[in-house]
Amino acid sequence: MENIDNINTSFKYTEEDELFDYIVSLDEKNVNNFLSRKKYEIYDFRSKDGKNSTVLHISVYKKNFNIVKSLIEYCKLNFEDKLNKFVNEENAKGISPIHYASFGGNLDIIKLLIENGADITKKTQKKLNIFHYCAQGNMPNSLMYFYLKFRENKNEKKKDKYKLFFEKDGAGSNILHWAVYSIAEDFLLYFINLDIFDSEIEKLNFINMQDANGFTPLHLSIISKSSRIALKLLQSGADTSLKDSNGRTPLEFAINKGEDNIKDILEESKKCQLFRMRVPLRQIKRNYKNVISIFIFQFISLAILFFSTIPIVFYKYEHNQYINILFYIFLFFLAIFFLLYFLLLIIDPGIKKRRSLEELQNLLKNKVDLTKYCYKCFILKTRTSKHCIICDCCYDNFDHHCYWINKCVAKNNFILFIIFLFATSLYLMISFVLAILGLINIKIFTWDNFDYEYFCKNHFLFKFFESNEPCTILYKSNFVLHLILNIILTLIILIFLIPECFLLFLHINVIFTNYKIEKMNKKSNIRISTSPLLNENEESSFNL
Ligand SMILES: [Zn+2]
Ligand SMILES: [Zn+2]
Repeated sequence: MENIDNINTSFKYTEEDELFDYIVSLDEKNVNNFLSRKKYEIYDFRSKDGKNSTVLHISVYKKNFNIVKSLIEYCKLNFEDKLNKFVNEENAKGISPIHYASFGGNLDIIKLLIENGADITKKTQKKLNIFHYCAQGNMPNSLMYFYLKFRENKNEKKKDKYKLFFEKDGAGSNILHWAVYSIAEDFLLYFINLDIFDSEIEKLNFINMQDANGFTPLHLSIISKSSRIALKLLQSGADTSLKDSNGRTPLEFAINKGEDNIKDILEESKKCQLFRMRVPLRQIKRNYKNVISIFIFQFISLAILFFSTIPIVFYKYEHNQYINILFYIFLFFLAIFFLLYFLLLIIDPGIKKRRSLEELQNLLKNKVDLTKYCYKCFILKTRTSKHCIICDCCYDNFDHHCYWINKCVAKNNFILFIIFLFATSLYLMISFVLAILGLINIKIFTWDNFDYEYFCKNHFLFKFFESNEPCTILYKSNFVLHLILNIILTLIILIFLIPECFLLFLHINVIFTNYKIEKMNKKSNIRISTSPLLNENEESSFNL
């Protein structure tokens, strides 16, 4: 692949060189003075660095709108018939000013060139179009400007409307290959999320397109050594099984190139993530599977607890007041668990309002830098905000996406989530104690001598079951069944308890680290505010 060419800026002195020199040093005043002297055939002025660039190439590359405007106005005024040639002139590599303008992302220059006849479909000698250059320059501004422009064309099909986005260069590389190769992460994200594909399959085909070497964009992320981009590609559905022309999959290629970070990501993306506490490494859509599974597990464990474990524990420790208190604490936390879980399910974590495409148009008019904005919501990114790819929206104070509540933990539900983690950990620990007490006493307990009616009368929760035949049968059933049930209960509790405690630990750690950082910031603020005083003292001591 061949990147955009830098323009060589050393010139010798002739009249032509003089103009080149003013442009390179962005000397607007002297450019205008020069042009006012006489009629120069500036459309024929060429740089002598072997690149054969015109004055327009260089002023566009330097992103100086006023000089570009002066040159175009000058040509229009003095040689109107040459204007089109001047605006579309190619340099030694077949690069036109519009290519440099797309690379630079200055929309005023792009508009000015187009107004004066620049051909946006032009390709360089290597068959690169303007969008391959937008990608190289990481310029979502140019991309979104053209996207909005193409979008206005209501009658055409998407395939025709956006055909310039889909073009390949001479080496079979598409816009994504170029973005990945140039480590243009912002551009990549903006592009992948555009509504320009007829179907999801077409989009995936584009993301997995292979160039002349058989490289997919994912292969190229290894060449550009960008694990972040590899991650974004995987999350967008990049195929890890496609082989390059040497028969290497991205994983084999990463091993081959010694890119350990990307190797780890690619290996990890194949594994099933049991507790899903890390960022997803493949495309994931929001679903309620985990929420439903929480209710199923809760139902199973509570059924075992109430019909097997608790009767065993009470049979053994009927007159032990501590065990009775433990039981009431357990009931309390059970209620708290369901209450908090329900609240977490209904509370909005603080979704930030997304901007429409019309509002995006206004942003572009106001010349904002889109790399500082979310590629999907078009709102300004902050230090703590993040776009969640699963919820598909932005949050302030983003913490993580929680699969167990099927939404993000962010500004509005962070504290509630911490309380929930804390309460759930206690709840699970008490359940665990009960389960262990049940397991160790299962041996000495025989269901034959268990007085079911007495149990129901003495424990208010079980009054409901007093005349319930099926329950009596369950209690009379055999030892092995209860043993198995209690082992299942213990395992279920452990499966939830371990990650729960880990998560709690992690969050407490994060809170303390943030607290420390805040404290440090405060301290450093004080130091900054006292520094003028220090300087004063230093000065005075120097004077003395
Ligand atoms: Zn967003
Ligand atoms: Zn989320």
